[in-house]
Amino acid sequence: MPHDTPKLNAFPVFLRVEGKTVAIVGDGEEALAKARLLGQSSAGLRIVAGHASAELAAWIAANGALHVAAPYEPAHLEGAVMVFAASGEESLDRRVAEDARRLGIAVNAVDRPDLCDFFTPALVNRAPVAIAIGTEGAGPVLAQIIRARIDQMLSPSLGTLASLAVSFRHAAEKLLPKGAARRRFWSEFFTGAPAQALAAGRLAEAHDAASHLLVTSGRSSGHVALVGAGPGAEDLLTLRAQRLLMEADVILYDALVPEAVVAMGRRDAERVSVGKRKGCHSKTQAEINSLLVELGHEGKRVVRLKSGDPLVFGRAGEEMAALRDAGISYEVVPGVTAAFAAAADFELPLTLRGVTSSMVFTTGHDLKGNSLPDWARLAISGATVAVYMGRSVAAEVAGRLIDAGLASDTAVAVVENASLGIRRKFHGTLADLPSLQARDDLDGPVMTIIGDAVAGANFDHSEPLAAGKIRHAHPHLEGVDA
Ligand code: SAH
Repeated sequence: MPHDTPKLNAFPVFLRVEGKTVAIVGDGEEALAKARLLGQSSAGLRIVAGHASAELAAWIAANGALHVAAPYEPAHLEGAVMVFAASGEESLDRRVAEDARRLGIAVNAVDRPDLCDFFTPALVNRAPVAIAIGTEGAGPVLAQIIRARIDQMLSPSLGTLASLAVSFRHAAEKLLPKGAARRRFWSEFFTGAPAQALAAGRLAEAHDAASHLLVTSGRSSGHVALVGAGPGAEDLLTLRAQRLLMEADVILYDALVPEAVVAMGRRDAERVSVGKRKGCHSKTQAEINSLLVELGHEGKRVVRLKSGDPLVFGRAGEEMAALRDAGISYEVVPGVTAAFAAAADFELPLTLRGVTSSMVFTTGHDLKGNSLPDWARLAISGATVAVYMGRSVAAEVAGRLIDAGLASDTAVAVVENASLGIRRKFHGTLADLPSLQARDDLDGPVMTIIGDAVAGANFDHSEPLAAGKIRHAHPHLEGVDA
């Protein structure tokens, strides 16, 4: 959580009310509203209403609350764990609040936050599960909106599922070792077959599924998911990636994966940065491979989080081979690769009817020696080329392509930090591309896209590639005729 998150002035807790008394003072609407709210709990309600409205009286009768049909006296509050001053009259509410406080009982006065020791939340009730929404009295309408949204999100059978969980808790604790295996059982329990059977109203089947899970969970070994984290923006993560992050025991992530994405993982998950930022490898690929295998053998649920798509310049091949050799189960979850994010930022059609119908994912780092790599031939025949890790070899890439016959005025688009708010876009031609290499004002990841389709991009908010160096060297000359 960021350090500047404001502090809560009211802290939410769940108060035990079973077998306890809650006192409500009031005759009318306000008292009835509180009676209905507290009536969702198993608290004994004592309603002090000398002149109860017909509606309140009917509710009391129908719900078996205790009706004190006498003018309010402090003695009516005795023994209660909570008091509600709900008379609708300021002076009486104030007296009730003062009396309660004298008796050491926490009090809530309807619509008088200054008299309140506590506030009542908007409530999503799936007993035994409860979601309480508080706004410190500032926004009851907001609380209701949030309540409606959460209510919609949660299955009506959630409460039954939670009750079923209670009946399995003892067995799970006895049969499954604390840690990964037990967590895996519960995670499957709440999202897998038992939950699905209950959602369909089949309680016996849910029970059987849970029993089966109990037997199999203890045996299961680890699992590694190679997950694409996308280009950087959190909301470009897939729903599957998000779910796996929520279920992970360990998250291994590369330097290019932003902290915000890693933070979406389960709070208790162990987080391991395996580095790999140009120049500072904090772990070698071989070390990463053996770490994955080791964690798998320990029975951990591992998320190997890689920027973009895991199968694009991510060395996933080596990791999968190591896992396969070790007999550890794994899966691959695709992600939005940097080329797609960069193209989206530029509104750049990667294939363009009548112009280009193929595309190449490449890196400029295979240009050593004299032979031209295959992708260069494809570029010359009109493919759109996305160059990963291409900044430090920009001049080499441009030079070799021009020498090979690609027109030097072929369009080029460059995006630094694609998908992020801090992204920068540049455009120019192949002849301008070498200038990219010399710029020292770019320190984020850079994607270069070359080809005729680039001409179809939207160049608003994009800077000329060629101007970069000059502008950077003489910022005070900008706009000056010299
Ligand atoms: N698996 C990743 C690529 C890893 S190689 C993917 O599919 O995107 C790392 C290179 O990806 C960087 O050098 C850069 O060229 C590119 N890259 C990754 N994130 C980027 C971003 N947000 N903006 C531009 N380029 C990015």
